[in-house]
Amino acid sequence: MDPTHAILFEPVKIGPVTAPNRFYQTPHATGLGWQRPQAGAALRGMKAEGGWGVVCTEYCSIHPTSDDSPHGFLTLWDDSDIPALALTADAIHAHGSLAGIELWHGGAHSSNRMTRVPGIAPDVQPAMFHLPTTARAMDSSDIKAFRGWQRDAALRAKQAGFDIIYVYAGHDYLPFQFLSGRSNTRGDAYGGSLENRARLLREMIEDTKEAVGDTCAVAVRLAVDELHGPRGITSAGEGREVIEMLAELPDLWDVNIAGALGNDSKSARFSAEGFQEPYVAFVKSLTTKPVVSVGRFTSPETMVAQIKRGVQDFIGAARPSIADPFLPLKIREGRADEIRECIGCNMCRAANNEAVHLRCTQNPTMAEEWRQGWHPERIAVLAQRQKVLVVGAGPAGLEAALSLGRRGAEVSLAEAGNTLGGRILRESTLPGLGTWVRVRDWRAHMIGKLPNVQVYPASEMTADDIADFGADHVVLATGSRWRRDGIGVAGMQALDLPKALTPDDIFAGAAVSGPVVIYDDDHYFMGGALADRLRAQGHDVTYVTPHATASSWTAMTDEQGFVQAKLLQAGVKIVVSHLLLGQDAGAVRLACAYTGREEERPCGTLIVATGRIPVDDLFAPLLAAGVAVSRVGDCLQPSSIADAIYAAHRFARGFGAATDAVLRREKPPLKGMI
Ligand code: ADP
Ligand code: SF4
Repeated sequence: MDPTHAILFEPVKIGPVTAPNRFYQTPHATGLGWQRPQAGAALRGMKAEGGWGVVCTEYCSIHPTSDDSPHGFLTLWDDSDIPALALTADAIHAHGSLAGIELWHGGAHSSNRMTRVPGIAPDVQPAMFHLPTTARAMDSSDIKAFRGWQRDAALRAKQAGFDIIYVYAGHDYLPFQFLSGRSNTRGDAYGGSLENRARLLREMIEDTKEAVGDTCAVAVRLAVDELHGPRGITSAGEGREVIEMLAELPDLWDVNIAGALGNDSKSARFSAEGFQEPYVAFVKSLTTKPVVSVGRFTSPETMVAQIKRGVQDFIGAARPSIADPFLPLKIREGRADEIRECIGCNMCRAANNEAVHLRCTQNPTMAEEWRQGWHPERIAVLAQRQKVLVVGAGPAGLEAALSLGRRGAEVSLAEAGNTLGGRILRESTLPGLGTWVRVRDWRAHMIGKLPNVQVYPASEMTADDIADFGADHVVLATGSRWRRDGIGVAGMQALDLPKALTPDDIFAGAAVSGPVVIYDDDHYFMGGALADRLRAQGHDVTYVTPHATASSWTAMTDEQGFVQAKLLQAGVKIVVSHLLLGQDAGAVRLACAYTGREEERPCGTLIVATGRIPVDDLFAPLLAAGVAVSRVGDCLQPSSIADAIYAAHRFARGFGAATDAVLRREKPPLKGMI
């Protein structure tokens, strides 16, 4: 280990328990929830195996009035929940780490779509879940009952084996709804002054300590700033006062910013490593208790600086631990160069927002530990050494070459361009997407360590070249190109657009003049990011989309609000709910997506970002020539970088196996039920 990193491996006392080091995986969603306890346990156990000294669960509901369906969340509603959660605690303990559990009540933020009981909140409050419903105001008997639920859940968590039990007052959830004057206008002892609004939080800490504090640490997760200015909790105002009031009460402070999760887990497009520091740095000066916070930390030097400068006592991490569950071990073993750094793309957040298994662009094994038996650091060696030619060194080709190389295949990787990276090379030049190049860098670096993988840049392969190469198997990873015909998610008919440019043309340096119109019927980052870039270059830019918001799918990555704000602030004109009909001299024709009413807009350059088509011209001739060939990534299915990496990894894992195994699923036992 680099001796300057030793400080990261010091044990830290948290109340009655001691963390073996300073690596603290803060609670984060996995989409696995109460329905998939074995997958959840395997995921958390992997983090402990990778050296995280503290590993926490995702949010764990304390009562049926807090039901986040359809999203994956845990439950401790009665004793029958204990065995499933004990699996996770045991999996974490198996590697000597501490197990934390984030007890949770969402208040007005809960959908209760599964339990169908009325939601509760400090006041009568329209549901914060985009539902046409209302949470009812809690009276004094509700508050008494609520305190009992927290206490009972804490006792069950202790029984399940957890070492750190959370009181969760962040992310706009119930205790925070009491805290913030924006959501609490009660006239009783729980409303009005800050002391009153903080009363429930104080009682929850005291109750939890009384219930389990003899052997378990009690952590408070608090949003010290909800980014609503003086109308709400701010780190210079009431956030600070709450910490002052309760400074020594919990055993640990886990502090962040709220209100919505998008502020806390901001993407790299809108935040840098350590971006929460200005909000949370004050906390340590007000308490003697250990403090943890997050900030997408991936550099050991930044981590050491966080501790030495007294910002926090732990290195809090959710996304960096998803991208590389073995980050701590790699630092401890002097292999920091092997850290698979989070790129801050928020595909992991998208999985939670879509209510499916967690997925990660950088780490294709994430959430596959149980259902496919994948280990991020281990992969089975091939029974027979095979010669494999991978064509194309974008994300898919790089991942295929790396994973096949780790399996012991004799791999040749041919890339037409002079530089490896494929789409990453272009997309990482867009505003805020510079970190995406880590996808290429990590794979190229790790490939460089494998003597059995040879890389050939500037080597465009024809079907004849490939057939003559004589590989046992050929993997085509030749990517995709943006389509020019305007077919997209909403506009399903081809348009005649002879003068339209595509994003590929822009990256290739095509001249842009006159008013620029970007038509986005793809809805992820490309249309919005191009608008951002061209506007910054001084162009008059109009962004048109058939959807109701700009870059609408980025709502899944918690970025949509930031994208739209940035475009508006930059002076991009945004035209929503309009389809592209065609392009005439100096103008584009649009139609309202609802009424069909047509209009013209001035246009010197039209750029269409509507969808991509595979570059797979080599596939058919190779098949015809009897070559054993497969396609992976965008050349089979144009999609996200995360999907390209995953597809290539899955291909490599299955290479040489007789069948494509069906995914393992968690099924309830049916014995005695039928
Ligand atoms: P993916 O996301 O699936 O990895 P990319 O578009 O990022 O796809 O990468 C595809 C890569 O394949 C590009 O770098 C491109 O230059 C390369 N490529 C395409 N055709 C050939 C070919 N015939 N020979 C070698 N490389 C190719
Ligand atoms: Fe980081 Fe993206 Fe992976 Fe999330 S999906 S952990 S943001 S690399």
